[in-house]
Amino acid sequence: MTDLFSDQPTPSTSTPTSTSTSTFPSPTLQAKAATLDLSSLSIYLPLKPYTLLPTPHSGTGVFTTAPLPPSTPLLSTSSLLASTILRAHRREVCAWCLAYDLGRIWPVRPHPPGVFCTEACRAAWEESWTGLGEEEEVKGPRGKDLALASMAAVDTFLARAARRAPEPESQPTGPRPTVEQADDLTSTLDARRTHILRARARAEKWQRDYAVLRTLPEAAPPRNTLAQALNPTTSPDPDVLRFMLNSVLNRAREGAAWDAALERLVGEAVPWRTEGEMHAWAAGVGALLVVLPWEVVGAVDPGLLRRLAGVENWNAFGVRDVGSGFGEGEKGVYDAGGGGDEYLGYGVWPEASYFNHSCAPNVGKRRVGRGWEFWVKDEGRGVGEGEELCISYLGGDEKGLRVEERRERLKQFWGFECACARCVAEARK
Ligand SMILES: [Zn+2]
Ligand SMILES: [Zn+2]
Repeated sequence: MTDLFSDQPTPSTSTPTSTSTSTFPSPTLQAKAATLDLSSLSIYLPLKPYTLLPTPHSGTGVFTTAPLPPSTPLLSTSSLLASTILRAHRREVCAWCLAYDLGRIWPVRPHPPGVFCTEACRAAWEESWTGLGEEEEVKGPRGKDLALASMAAVDTFLARAARRAPEPESQPTGPRPTVEQADDLTSTLDARRTHILRARARAEKWQRDYAVLRTLPEAAPPRNTLAQALNPTTSPDPDVLRFMLNSVLNRAREGAAWDAALERLVGEAVPWRTEGEMHAWAAGVGALLVVLPWEVVGAVDPGLLRRLAGVENWNAFGVRDVGSGFGEGEKGVYDAGGGGDEYLGYGVWPEASYFNHSCAPNVGKRRVGRGWEFWVKDEGRGVGEGEELCISYLGGDEKGLRVEERRERLKQFWGFECACARCVAEARK
């Protein structure tokens, strides 16, 4: 599934493919992205030497407001919409600082979030959940206890699902869903959400005062709604489900700010390559509605989760082994088999998503713990005023590849025909 999640932000030099021009999730998504002001959600460096402007082909780009010499720091961000460590690496990657040491198993193991490289990382992780569930009126678990209960519930569901039906060897199949099918599914899931939450409220009468109930229309749940959601015919992908869970918990903790950050990113209307993949995703949404603690289940929103899936395809950054031979951690997803360059997980860092691609990038990047740092490339002349700041999605490989090879990779993995200055110049020769 690695090719589903691009390692890089929104493709730079073409308009997105046909699916993205649909009305989902909001016809103004593209327009909003072109006029956004990130200052409200930013932890930019104090002097921000650039601004966000619309580009002819690729939505928003990052442009300098002054000449910048080599090595100028540009952005340091650890704001995450959502992230996950892949199942295969859960015992080897610190759940807080994302440290990885050639497959060594980290010592601090408070199941279920995974492992931590030190007690300090565990403490930071626990602290990060402060505020989760605080606004709920009925006393229940809060903060890290609520996060742990949510993760344990999902792990239990996944263990049950694995016992019931072994996972298919290959990706679910079928044609790519149409926008109408995706819209229909979203509506169905919205209705199911109402039914499931009402059924749960009946089962747990003492919880009737919860705020989430007031947001639901009156509706009688069909019989067995919960049982069906607990026993889907298609099993969710565990990695996808855990990514969704992380997004739900982050949203429950951060509220409207999380929604606003998601809304500013451009995504695909139909994030699934096959119908089977779409139904597996839907099964994951249904499972979250049934198994999550009541204090966070209100944050499960099918439309927003679909938008996140679309955004993730274009905006996710791969979490890789930064200690490997690829010092900048810049390898693309396409060569995940490359020696020593383990693909450990992925996340969406909204602020990092605005740098477009160039085959002659003027911005370097590297992951530092839970965050990313960007700077004007150390070699060369720096960047002039009004120039676009671009990273490379090709992770350094752009240096040695011919224009046809670069364009082929970018087309295959990010779906656009590269029209950067270097490609245009080389193609003319
Ligand atoms: Zn750590
Ligand atoms: Zn190019």
